[in-house]
Order: sequence, then C-alpha cells, then structure tokens
Amino acid sequence: MLDELLHLFYPRVCTGCHSLLASGERDICAACFASFDAFADADAAGYAVREVFRRNYPKINGLQEVWSLYRFHKNDRLQQVVHAMKYEGVHRLGKFFGSRLAEMISGCGAGEEFSCIVPVPLHRLKVVERTYNQSEVIARAAAAILQKEVRVDLVIRRKYTRPQAGLSPRERRSNVRDAFMPSGDAALEDILLVDDILTTGSTAAAVIQALKAAGAGNISLATIALAA
Ligand SMILES: [Zn+2]
Repeated sequence: MLDELLHLFYPRVCTGCHSLLASGERDICAACFASFDAFADADAAGYAVREVFRRNYPKINGLQEVWSLYRFHKNDRLQQVVHAMKYEGVHRLGKFFGSRLAEMISGCGAGEEFSCIVPVPLHRLKVVERTYNQSEVIARAAAAILQKEVRVDLVIRRKYTRPQAGLSPRERRSNVRDAFMPSGDAALEDILLVDDILTTGSTAAAVIQALKAAGAGNISLATIALAA
C-alpha cells in the first residue's frame, strides 16, 4: 500500500531504459530483462570465462570453478543497469545479481566447498566516492544464500587506480599491477572471488595472485557479466 502510494508521487522507472515500471516490476523492466544476453547455461558461461584467462593469463592456474550470468555488450541495457549499480548507488541491483549468481552456483551443486567469499576490493577512497563497493554488495547477497562468510580482510587495494574502462589490455594490466596486496592469512581457504564485470581478467588475475600470496588454496570466480 505505502509502496503504491509512493509510486504515485515518485514514479519508479527502469534503470535500464527509464520507462515507467509496471506493478510487480522492480528496478528493471521486463523488456530490459529480456534484452540481457544470458549465457545458455553455467557450462557455457564457465567455458567463456576460462577462455579469457587462457588467452590473457595462461599462467593463472588453479581457477577451480567459474560462473557468469550474462554477456555484456557496449551500450546495451545491461550496461546502463551495471552503470547505475556502480556509480548511482543502486544498491538493490547488486543484491539482485548476487542472488542470481548464488542460484546459478547452487544449481550446479556447488557452493558447499567454499570456506569464504571474497569481493574484489575497492580502494578506500573509491568507497567514499561511490559510497559502497558494488562487488561487496554482490558478494554479501550471494553469501546470504550460500550461507558463507564474506572476508574483506584477506586482500586490500593499495593503489588508487584509474578506471579500467577504455584502456587497452596492456594498459589494464599495468594499471592494476601491484594494486592488490595480501593482508591476512588465507592458508587453506577455499575461496569464491566475486567481481562485477570481467573484461580482460586483469583485475581478477591481480586479486587471485594476491590471494595465492596469502596462502589461499582453491579459488573459484563468479562475475555478473563477461564483456566480450
Ligand atoms: Zn527497461
């Protein structure tokens, strides 16, 4: 009731296309949803993500399992939505995508094996700038469903990097070089790393290195979308 009254005075619009939301729709309209390029299944997503690492970071081994929900295309509606999640502080979207990821993971019969979930850290100044770390929101939503602990103490971002968007693969690599450092003891931890969007894999690869340096055992990766 209150919700409907609020909608009268503050009409809710879709974060993807800014059209008015129908009742029952939340944050994203049905048309935008239908336009998202979802992977056919977890296997197809896993294969596509592994291919990125095979191509760009063949030395990163030990990536146990990988999951992704969508393919991300420049200027599509998913990009609008992800942008809103990252920069406009639309918290609920992060929760929504985190839950979807957890459903995909448990649908594969996985999740039990993780000892903790680790979001890709943001530099503390960026957290101030954006008010929250979107990967952490995604990770916490997934963790609530998978009933796992979120650890933000195992790796920290020590370098304030410029955004990866618009950079070449080589620039991306040097931008995040030494950006992360281990800050806790991850010995024997079986970790699920959560990243929002995977492009060349340079950020995830840098975090994986730091986690390995902290003694982590197996590392799996979950990301909302693969930009390709
Ligand atoms: Zn829409």
